[in-house]
Amino acid sequence: MGLTEKEAAERLKAQGENTLGESRRTGPMRIFLGQFRDVMVMILLGATVISVLLGEISDAVTIILIVLLNAILGFVQEYRTENTLEALRSMTSPTAKCWRDGKLKEIDASQLVTGDVIELEAGDRIPADCAVLKAAGFFSDEALLTGESVAVGKSAGDESDTDNSLNKSNIVYCGASATKGTCRARVIATGMATQMGRISEMLRDIDKEPTPLQKRLGELGKVVAIICLVVCIAVFGAGVLRGENVFDMLMTGITIAIAAIPEGLPATVTIALALAVSRMLKQKALVNKLHSVETLGCTSVICSDKTGTITENRMTVTELSTAEDTYLFSGMGYRVSGAVTKGEIAVNPVTEKALSAALRCGVLCSTAEISAQEPPKSRNRGTLAGKGEWSVTGDPTEAALLIAAAKAGITRQSLSAGYRSIGEFPFDSETRFMAVHVVCGSEKRIYFKGAEEVLLPRCSMYLDGSGKAAPMTAALRRDLAERAEDMSQRALRVLALAVCTSEELDPQRRDLVFLGFAGMTDPPREEAKTAIRKCSAASVKTVMITGDHKNTAVAVAKKAGLLKGGKAMTGAELDCLSDEELDRCIGEYTVFARVEPVHKLRIVRSFRRRGEIVTMTGDGVNDAPAVKEADVGVAMGVTGTDVTKQAADVILMDDNLATLVNAVEQGRCVYANIRKFVRYLLSCNIGEVLTMFLGLLMGMPVVLLPVQILLVNLVTDGLPAVALGMEPPEKDIMSRPPRRSDEGFFSGGLMGRIVFRGILIGLSTLGSFGTVMHMGGSIEACRTAALITLVVSQLIHVFECRSEKRSLFRLNPFGNMKLVGAAALSAAVLAAAVMVPQLQVVFSTVTPDMMQLLTALGFSVAVPVICGVI
Ligand code: ADP
Ligand code: MG
Repeated sequence: MGLTEKEAAERLKAQGENTLGESRRTGPMRIFLGQFRDVMVMILLGATVISVLLGEISDAVTIILIVLLNAILGFVQEYRTENTLEALRSMTSPTAKCWRDGKLKEIDASQLVTGDVIELEAGDRIPADCAVLKAAGFFSDEALLTGESVAVGKSAGDESDTDNSLNKSNIVYCGASATKGTCRARVIATGMATQMGRISEMLRDIDKEPTPLQKRLGELGKVVAIICLVVCIAVFGAGVLRGENVFDMLMTGITIAIAAIPEGLPATVTIALALAVSRMLKQKALVNKLHSVETLGCTSVICSDKTGTITENRMTVTELSTAEDTYLFSGMGYRVSGAVTKGEIAVNPVTEKALSAALRCGVLCSTAEISAQEPPKSRNRGTLAGKGEWSVTGDPTEAALLIAAAKAGITRQSLSAGYRSIGEFPFDSETRFMAVHVVCGSEKRIYFKGAEEVLLPRCSMYLDGSGKAAPMTAALRRDLAERAEDMSQRALRVLALAVCTSEELDPQRRDLVFLGFAGMTDPPREEAKTAIRKCSAASVKTVMITGDHKNTAVAVAKKAGLLKGGKAMTGAELDCLSDEELDRCIGEYTVFARVEPVHKLRIVRSFRRRGEIVTMTGDGVNDAPAVKEADVGVAMGVTGTDVTKQAADVILMDDNLATLVNAVEQGRCVYANIRKFVRYLLSCNIGEVLTMFLGLLMGMPVVLLPVQILLVNLVTDGLPAVALGMEPPEKDIMSRPPRRSDEGFFSGGLMGRIVFRGILIGLSTLGSFGTVMHMGGSIEACRTAALITLVVSQLIHVFECRSEKRSLFRLNPFGNMKLVGAAALSAAVLAAAVMVPQLQVVFSTVTPDMMQLLTALGFSVAVPVICGVI
């Protein structure tokens, strides 16, 4: 069936990859040229050309070199960022299950060619336009193409049909999603030839929108730019009025503008966010959109799945209750050993008719696979001895049943002779049960497994100890319900097993024979407990949402440390509440049980109406709307379906709550870091502008020459700021409440601190300039001193910006080695510029004498020391 790899490779060459008009990658050259797009830089380069014409060659060369160096720095960072983001995009690229060389393989969807035969199931995104060959209850959501929001049924039609026009019932379309059932289909159009390709110009789905923070900072940058321009014009005017050379003053004005206007702010924010994204990826959280990094940090409610996220999703059947007896199973987890006992006594499953019937039902109703490395030995039939662990593929609930049956010597192989499956009614978290149609000897049966409340009411008989069906009595029904209740209170997930004879696969039958209850444990993950504790310290509410029974949910919640005074509600109770009532009380609940996907949507909406920032996890197809609605939608990487992953902002590669909480921490950290480097950049810029402006106002000579200003800008703005963006999270970051999403960026008096510190930097630079002048230094010596003071002040300030709460002297100076390295490099460049004779010519500096050096350093150190002491 399908193509061979060789045919496929040939067709791929002829047809091209199955992708929709590739989001054009920004090439390295474009990025590099982009560095010069800035108006101010253009003006500077223009002015430099003029200065060459005027004969000022050496200055011109220096200016061009510095501008180039700056551009290279910017380029390297931006190029790396672009690469990181590109890598992320390719990680989320879809795959397809495709027949090649007669085998079913999972391949990259971009490698599909016409003629390939693929398999689709609920939750998949359809990777190309295909003709349906075989379908079982298959529905597809084509809203993206046709606007029709109701899923359309698909069935096999003309197999050789290659016409992919819209609205055909035998064609599935690229970009649509499978909502129900399964289907086999042949690819008839790929890439731009698909219907989706035709409209893909309209939907470039990769998100290049700036994040709200970037937008806000972009606006801030504009305001600062305008202020700077005004100041520059003032400096220029004041200089000219005082009789300075007009062209020199023009150059000075332009260089101040370049140094002070934070045009790179949005880019630096992108870099910080992208770095956070790659750090999160190392911790197994894949963030689709930069925007979400920010929002994650504001999260105030986490709505999490139970199974697999809070618990390990390694189910073990520990007890099985038939109508007349209760059996215990030993051997935890997936270990290949264990025994079945009744009380203390080992049993022989062959003689326990009801037990073995129930276990057989469990095996027949499972599609999971278990396999052991070495074939296990069954010593007597109720005991299994083997080494190591089962390796499991498929639903852990089903694997647990298979393992339990194996302990009693019942396996799929041992049943294959007597039982043949001919149809299936698949499990769905809305119906909460599944059924298989099986031929057994001369009769046909339906085996059921599912939630106890769904199946028990449908049982009109039960299997007694001798294996005969007997009528169900009211007393027994009550007794069984109580036993199930008791199991669920002990944190066991309870599955009912039942059977009936039937010619048709009618899943709604009500004359079932009760076989037994399987009770399985699924212990909470250790990391999840820690994560939940972390959340409560960080004032983030964790809510558990599960399809399981309320008792089971509550018991697991208690074990995981999640309940703490919170209450539990079921989906049915939720249905009885109006939106207003729900909004009023939802804050008191931490557990939602027996929940269907529609309820998740209501829960998200209700929390959001209360002004919470909601992070919601999901795995099934039906979870997608809730995941989309949440502020941060999270999909499970392992168990999640394509559709949910596409709706999500974050994908947890290990399905683990702890990973999500780490991502929240990273989100908070990156926001704090952005505040840190914005604080740093702005106060430094204010310092630079003030130095020049006040200097002129106070009648001093021009304090710094254009090349010197550019040098300051080069050594202080670039690397130290980026390194500051890589600060590790502060220790208390997860012990404060989340920031409100509408909180201003400069909240908590940040603006005041920036301006104040900026003024101090400016004044100390002027102080150093004036003092050296007073000591009789030459104008070059004064400028050199000012240059040293200005740079060193900023390099000290960058360390002050590491914390908003603690002063410089309370921080471990080596907490961020990248920053130490960046500062050391900048200091070395400064030292070279004032000490190396050749560079002295370039930067018009002189080697300072001891007194001058001490003065310059003294002024830099004075402010932080005084601030630290106060
Ligand atoms: P969860 O939110 O814990 O993942 P599910 O939606 O998977 O919950 O399951 C809800 C209920 O459906 C379970 O309590 C169980 O009774 C039933 N159930 C779960 N998995 C299966 C299965 N594979 N076959 C039959 N019934 C199942
Ligand atoms: Mg589940």
